[in-house]
Amino acid sequence: QRQITRLPEWLKTPIPEGDNYKTLRNDLRGLNLHTVCEEARCPNISSCWGGSSKSAATATIMLMGDTCTRGCRFCSVKTNKAPAPLDPHEPEHTAEALSRWGLGYVVLTSVDRDDLPDGGAAHFAETISKIKAKSNGQVLVEALTGDFAGDVAQVEQVALSGLDVYAHNVETVEELTPMVRDRRAGFRQSLDVLRAAKAAKPDLITKTSMMLGLGETEEQMWDALRAIRAAGVDVVTFGQYMRPTKRHMKVHEYVHPDVFEAWRVRALEMGFLYVASGPLVRSSYKAGEAFIENVLK
Ligand code: SF4
Ligand code: SF4
Repeated sequence: QRQITRLPEWLKTPIPEGDNYKTLRNDLRGLNLHTVCEEARCPNISSCWGGSSKSAATATIMLMGDTCTRGCRFCSVKTNKAPAPLDPHEPEHTAEALSRWGLGYVVLTSVDRDDLPDGGAAHFAETISKIKAKSNGQVLVEALTGDFAGDVAQVEQVALSGLDVYAHNVETVEELTPMVRDRRAGFRQSLDVLRAAKAAKPDLITKTSMMLGLGETEEQMWDALRAIRAAGVDVVTFGQYMRPTKRHMKVHEYVHPDVFEAWRVRALEMGFLYVASGPLVRSSYKAGEAFIENVLK
């Protein structure tokens, strides 16, 4: 595999700024919420937290602890077979903190919890319904879940909890899945999760995300997108794979921004409702603004 060391210009990241970002950052102090945005030092924080207005501002919150039962080769989250038990107060506490924060759009995500009988589905669902109740439905909620080991009942439980967007990431093309994701994950299984969410609630927006630069071919990308679209998925996002540490998979290629733009246009032509695509895009990138512009209008 090719060894790439130099970071191209388009991946050099801006310093967070903007009034909304500063207000939200100050508001966050004392709320004791773990945002992926801050903890992963996401380069998009000023555009997401800044938003076009506070009601469109997006943040991603991590539920169910910091230790995952899986080990994907692209991910820097800690791994252990037996993570700490769930905090039963987390749903209530998260809903309360979010109502004080005044954010417009929240993405709830979590580590995979294969150690729990329901994979954490009830905890997810409780958090979503509490956020909706506390905010009188004002906060838009996206859940970015794992695959619940393909258990449709758990997917349905989350899909019917009052959320607006159900996201689950295929991460890469089918052919590279065994090299990239944990051996318990599967491309087809992930499509089944997205299909089950849509079947449970047909007006729910479903969404998935792919990393580019892992060695996928154009043909494999077309096949993946056709399969994703055939599973009724509404929204797709593409971003560059970035290697978290030397112990993780190498970057095969830094994909040029023009190629990201080409996939954005192609995906829209295939009928996806909206598409975010660019080297720095992450699945939750400006999700609030995108939802407001494409779904609510
Ligand atoms: Fe947070 Fe996601 Fe936006 Fe990054 S892309 S700042 S993680 S909401
Ligand atoms: Fe990371 Fe998710 Fe894979 Fe766990 S399942 S290692 S959190 S990508």
